[in-house]
Amino acid sequence: MGKKVIMIMVDGFGIPENGWFNSIYSEFCDSRFVKLLSDFSIPVTTDMGVDGIPQSATGQTALFTGFNAAQIMGMHMQGFPGPKLREVICRRNLFSNLLEKGKKVAFANAYVQFTLEELDKMRLKSVTTTMVESSIGWVRNIEDLLSGKAVYHDLTRKTIMDKGSIREISPEQAATDLMSISREHDFTLFEYFLTDKAGHKPDKTVLREVLGNLSSFVCQLIDEAAENTLIILTGDHGNCEDITTKRHTNNPVPLFIYNHPLPRNKELMSIEQIYSYIIEDIFINTKQGVS
Ligand SMILES: [Zn+2]
Repeated sequence: MGKKVIMIMVDGFGIPENGWFNSIYSEFCDSRFVKLLSDFSIPVTTDMGVDGIPQSATGQTALFTGFNAAQIMGMHMQGFPGPKLREVICRRNLFSNLLEKGKKVAFANAYVQFTLEELDKMRLKSVTTTMVESSIGWVRNIEDLLSGKAVYHDLTRKTIMDKGSIREISPEQAATDLMSISREHDFTLFEYFLTDKAGHKPDKTVLREVLGNLSSFVCQLIDEAAENTLIILTGDHGNCEDITTKRHTNNPVPLFIYNHPLPRNKELMSIEQIYSYIIEDIFINTKQGVS
């Protein structure tokens, strides 16, 4: 049986300064989730050797392309990628590389509010949207969502309940849906950005819900993961772990890997190294199946 990889990119999800067990995560997350992060993750730096506070456009470009995007731009760029970063993303990314190797890849997020064309016109293309458009070429929509073949970015669909037939689901159901998508693909990506949104407020009521949902979702994925299914969770930069600031942080992010050995030397990695770790260590160097 071939290997299945699920990658969850959590925006604004850093490692707390005082450790996992004395943090906003231990306060609001399922305790199993915090233990899992502590046991199966290594720290990854996000500054890429460039001064300033790490941001999403350069952080996610580095994570998904392996290029040092902050050095290419000479600074950390926030929000949506501009023309130069989009060119970097289109040059190569996790999806395009794996597709060239004959792997089946999926972006699980559902696009409900806008189509790809509309996002293009509004200049609201995120790093993942740019990557999907240039490789897979299509995105999952509301029909996919309703048939359990996509996951909404908030996990529970609560934020789109005004859209006719959409009903709220549990984060556990969202995990079951993601797992079923993963069974049909070698590599499945899901992006969760409410952590970053909540971290910019920061409002403890919102954080409780956002982190609680994320932890229930990941614990359910772990429960449903067959031996050949790897689960990777990482972030683009810190934010929600520090509620004393509304801004991003310079804290490292976790590289969490379940059902596969962590990088050998367990030393601090830099965010742009995750790309080759996934391609080489997970997809090329290891035998089919997981030890
Ligand atoms: Zn942010």
